[in-house]
Amino acid sequence: MTMPLGLDEERIAALASHLIRFETTTPERINACADYCADWLEQGGVNVKVYENQGLKSVVASVGSGLPVIVLNGHLDVVPGEPDDFAPRVENGRLYGRGSYDMLGAVASMMVLMTELAKDVPDCTVKLALVPDEESGGERGTGFLVEQGEVGDIAICGEPTDLNIALQAKGILQLVVEATGVAAHGSRPWLGKNAILEALRHYEKIASMRIFEESTPYFERPSLNLAKIQAGTVFNQVPDRCTFGVDIRYLPGQKADDLLRMIRQALPDAEIKVHFHGYPVDTTAEHKLVRKLQAIAGTSFFGQDGSADTRFYALHGIPAVEFGPAGAHHHGPGEYADIPSLGRYKQILKQFIKQAKDDMHEIQG
Ligand SMILES: [Zn+2]
Repeated sequence: MTMPLGLDEERIAALASHLIRFETTTPERINACADYCADWLEQGGVNVKVYENQGLKSVVASVGSGLPVIVLNGHLDVVPGEPDDFAPRVENGRLYGRGSYDMLGAVASMMVLMTELAKDVPDCTVKLALVPDEESGGERGTGFLVEQGEVGDIAICGEPTDLNIALQAKGILQLVVEATGVAAHGSRPWLGKNAILEALRHYEKIASMRIFEESTPYFERPSLNLAKIQAGTVFNQVPDRCTFGVDIRYLPGQKADDLLRMIRQALPDAEIKVHFHGYPVDTTAEHKLVRKLQAIAGTSFFGQDGSADTRFYALHGIPAVEFGPAGAHHHGPGEYADIPSLGRYKQILKQFIKQAKDDMHEIQG
């Protein structure tokens, strides 16, 4: 038997359901959702500013004044799903639907929280940034907002973490490696040099590098995924070109420049290009606001294998964490958010905001 939902939880679930129905997988739908959120927040008495960058809207809502400035961040975009995924339903205290867990449930909790703070104004500043493109890189949303000065003393991204706090996140280094060979007739392969076999040797060399055996307290290993390979056209020819793509997730503490240099040194015959680079996040557990959040949440710190918008804040020296509600199956079928955890999430953030000022005095001595 499940407990009946509280009014608060019902309100959050209803708002999250509404957001899920926007099917925020295209710029048009995302912008429509952003407009809806801006109106909804404004009607709740919250100051709202809408930014537009490269055709995508971001919403920054704010309440209160003074230090510290607490930035809450939620992305409105979701990954694609089946039509059913965009018809949310509540069952056994769970909200099912694409984005319920990643992360429209958290967005709804944060939005409801902002309207409560508009009535019961905190003695610090709280900004809620709702962004359009976390799932596709984040540069046009959070990356842009940070450049516009929408920053603070701590940034909390509401990614799915089951109320634990992700302090660190791996960096991303995606490389395109091109191996060259010599073409020959397929019946006399000994006269040529097979670029596919050369590429496999390149890959093996990368995979056996010592950098992939390093670890940190939060991560056992970096990771390497052979994500793409392209070569060969016909059966009766030795291929003279093979290109492959690797997705490296490196550890906080490792440096992308160093990794690239070492890989280039190990593969002097290959041509290597950087497809994408994203910095790791290395927030310290010693920061007072981070510690305060953890004490209130009563959960653990951990390291996130995937990358999120936290990295844009981290790059500006702002302690950034991922902290979001409970659920399961984000990006997959049967995605759901645990509705009581959406309510609890809002309460933890509220308590944190109420107590943040004390810590600021301590920080400033
Ligand atoms: Zn997410």
